[in-house]
Amino acid sequence: MRIDIITVLPSLLDSFLNHSIVQRAKDKELVQVNIHNLRDYATNKQRSVDDYAYGGGAGMVLMIEPVVQCLESLQKGREYQEVIYMSPDGQPLQQSLVNQISLLSNVIILCGHYKGIDERLREHFITREISIGDYVLSGGELPAAVLADAVIRLVPGVLSNESSALTDSFQDGLIAPPVYTRPAEFRNLKVPSVLLSGHEKEIEKWRFEQSVKRTVERRPDRSDEMPPGQPGKDAG
Ligand code: SAH
Repeated sequence: MRIDIITVLPSLLDSFLNHSIVQRAKDKELVQVNIHNLRDYATNKQRSVDDYAYGGGAGMVLMIEPVVQCLESLQKGREYQEVIYMSPDGQPLQQSLVNQISLLSNVIILCGHYKGIDERLREHFITREISIGDYVLSGGELPAAVLADAVIRLVPGVLSNESSALTDSFQDGLIAPPVYTRPAEFRNLKVPSVLLSGHEKEIEKWRFEQSVKRTVERRPDRSDEMPPGQPGKDAG
C-alpha cells in the first residue's frame, strides 16, 4: 500500500513516521508513506500556498493552485483510488471505514491548515472527507497520522501477531475485554483467576462475556452492531 500525505508542515509528521508500527511497515516494505511539502508546489513568485478569504474575515485559506499541482504530479505516476481531505465536517472515522481504506493500494491524504482549503478543491478534486471527531485541531497533520496509523496496522504482515488486530475493539462490533500481565498479584490486587487457569475454553468464554458487558455498559450506542445471537445484545 502507498500513502501520499500533502502538508504545509511536514516536520509534524516526522516522529509518527519514524517510530513503531509505521517504521516496521516501511522497513518490511509493506507500506510506503511519502510526505509532500505543499510549498514545493507553490506557483507564485512569493512561493505562498495560502491567501486571505474572499469576502473577508480572519484566517487564511490554502490555495487551489499548489494543491492541484501536487495532486496532478502524483496522479501522473499512478492511479489513486481516493483523494482524502481531513476535515472536521467530514465522515466520522470509524473502524469500518478504516477497514475499507486498508484494502486500497494508492491513497492521497490532504491536510488542511488555517481556515481550511479553497472549497473548489473539495467540490472537484477530493473524493472523500474524513473527520477524526467533533473538535477542531489547527491542522490536518495529526488527523492524517491518526488515519494512516489505523490503516497501516491492518495491512497484512504489519502486526507481528496477525490475529491481534482482529481482537481489538470495534473489529467485531464489540469492545475488547480487559487485559492483565505479571505479576499475578500486586498489593493484594489480583488478576482474575480464570486467566491463570490455563483452561482455554473458559478463558475464551470469560473474554467474550467481558466484551459483551463492556460494550453494553460503555457503548450502548454500538450494541446494535454486535453479531446476532450474543448474550446481552438487547440489554442496556
Ligand atoms: N474552519 C474549519 C476548521 C479548520 S481547522 C472549520 O471550522 O471546519 C484546520 C485544518 O485542520 C482543517 O482544514 C483540517 O484539515 C484539519 N482538522 C481540524 N480538525 C479536524 C478534525 N476533527 N478532523 C479532521 N481534520 C481536522
